[in-house]
Amino acid sequence: MLGVHTKTEEAEQSLIEEILGPDEQKDTWRGDALCAQTDPEAFFPDKGGSTRDAKRICAQCAVRQKCLEWAVDHDERFGIWGGMSERERRRYKKERRA
Ligand code: SF4
Repeated sequence: MLGVHTKTEEAEQSLIEEILGPDEQKDTWRGDALCAQTDPEAFFPDKGGSTRDAKRICAQCAVRQKCLEWAVDHDERFGIWGGMSERERRRYKKERRA
C-alpha cells in the first residue's frame, strides 16, 4: 500500500541512514562498510528469501566483526548484519554470554 512502510522497509531505511548518514553520526567502522557500495535490498530479503548474496558481501567486508558486535549490542531485529541473520545473531549472543 502506498505511503505505508513495512517493518522491513523501515529497517532497510534505517540501515541506509546509519551507513550513509552524516559523518558525526557514524561509528568509524561504517566508513568501510562494503554494503554501502552495494544494493541494500540484498541485506533485507523477504521472509524465506535468500541471504546468500548479502552474506557473500559480508564475508569480504573488512569491518564484519565490528558490524556484528554493533548489531548484537543494539538488538537489531531485521536484516543481515556482520554476515548473520537475526536468528544467527541471537544464537551468537547467547554463545558470547556463555
Ligand atoms: S559486515 Fe555486512 S552488513 Fe556489516 S558493514 Fe560489512 S557488508 Fe555491511
